[in-house]
Amino acid sequence: MTTIFKKIIDREIPAQIVHEDDQCLAFHDIAPKSPVHILVIPKKEISGVGAIEEEDEALVGHCLYVIRRLAEEQGIAEDGYRVVINQGKNAEQSVAHLHFHLMGGRAFTWPPG
Ligand code: 5GP
Repeated sequence: MTTIFKKIIDREIPAQIVHEDDQCLAFHDIAPKSPVHILVIPKKEISGVGAIEEEDEALVGHCLYVIRRLAEEQGIAEDGYRVVINQGKNAEQSVAHLHFHLMGGRAFTWPPG
């Protein structure tokens, strides 16, 4: 199934892209829940954490490295930020393409709702 994120990768629908390389894409969330709310996605179509294969280990690690760099670029590294992955129904995952939420610019509470 073609997800909205695959359409963003393929430039079929627009997004505010902040990073792209051969493995991943990062863009602003359309409905931000914090002053900085960026989605980092692998270009490979992986439906979620529950579909990560052993061969994807380096790709997932690369996404996290990009997140670290984006957090610095966005000026949220010093104060801290949250990285979220929602997996499945109970976590209210709404797009079946693996994505990391990079959220910052405000304080978060713990535990999340
Ligand atoms: P999930 O709930 O699956 O963890 O997160 C999906 C995220 O994708 C949500 O935060 C939602 O606002 C965002 N989103 C959904 N559709 C679009 C879109 O077309 N463009 C962008 N930039 N973000 C989207």
